[in-house]
Amino acid sequence: MSGIPSLPPRTLPPGFLYFPPFRVQGYSIAGEESYVQIPELDVCFDVGRAPKLMLSSNFVALTHGHMDHAAGLSYYYSQRHFQGMGTGTVLCHQKLAAAIEKLMTAWVDIEAQRTPYKVVAMEPGTDSEEFEIKRGHYLRAFATDHTVPSLGFVVIEKRSKLKEQYIGLPQEKLVEIKEAGNEITYIKQVPLIAYMGDTSPGKHFEREDVANAQILITECTFMAEDHRSRARVGKHLHISDIADIVKQVNSPNIVLTHLSRRTHLGEAHRQLNAMLSPSDRERIHMLMDGRANRDRYNRQIAEAEAAGHATPAR
Ligand SMILES: [Zn+2]
Ligand SMILES: [Zn+2]
Repeated sequence: MSGIPSLPPRTLPPGFLYFPPFRVQGYSIAGEESYVQIPELDVCFDVGRAPKLMLSSNFVALTHGHMDHAAGLSYYYSQRHFQGMGTGTVLCHQKLAAAIEKLMTAWVDIEAQRTPYKVVAMEPGTDSEEFEIKRGHYLRAFATDHTVPSLGFVVIEKRSKLKEQYIGLPQEKLVEIKEAGNEITYIKQVPLIAYMGDTSPGKHFEREDVANAQILITECTFMAEDHRSRARVGKHLHISDIADIVKQVNSPNIVLTHLSRRTHLGEAHRQLNAMLSPSDRERIHMLMDGRANRDRYNRQIAEAEAAGHATPAR
């Protein structure tokens, strides 16, 4: 008897974490697809296969050229143009800029039409390169350590602050001091989000802007004890590296991405619990841990409701 075939397998939904005021959303499985979007900052780190969710980001910060991070580049530009969303901008390692131009030129031959695109080449030097993505908000690129040219990014907010010695003075007095030619303000730099694409551990985690970011998003490809050497060869992080990084950085929220497909989340939880103090454990989240993140979100909604705030319809 021929029965009814079963439905095709369901794909994993995107991961979602809310760290007020920022949403961290996207999808990240090693070797398959990685993109992590921060809607409030108009940026998506890596582009994955350019799914609909990420298209609204005016900026893509591309960490490196591996296909699981970069496959959707041309589709990102194309869909944004097609849907009237304006020309997308991709910030990439300076060594990749010419190749992306070639990719877009190849599509002109394939499609017989021209898609508008913008590429910004970032040179990771000792003086970090910056690009303004939103008023007062800058993407800063720095070198990481992977098997191909690779970047990490930090979003910095630059806030104009009154110098300490002038705090509390009346407005007229401040105007007077300013008119006498004194600079009464200074720029305070606040690192909001640090993002590490594929990388080995190293000095880039010790950078002041990374170590003090409000949210650190980092890869953690391998979990199994016998995968330490695989992590080294592929220039990736192993869960044991995360234990060190957690101690190095001050970020209250650390999001792990790029776990391998075979990672058993229950096992990952057990390892994190065993490796870390309870207070450090609380800082760690896994982007693709749907169940834990949904529970967390529901708690956030319940707390908001209890405080009398409007919440999305459930
Ligand atoms: Zn990757
Ligand atoms: Zn890679």
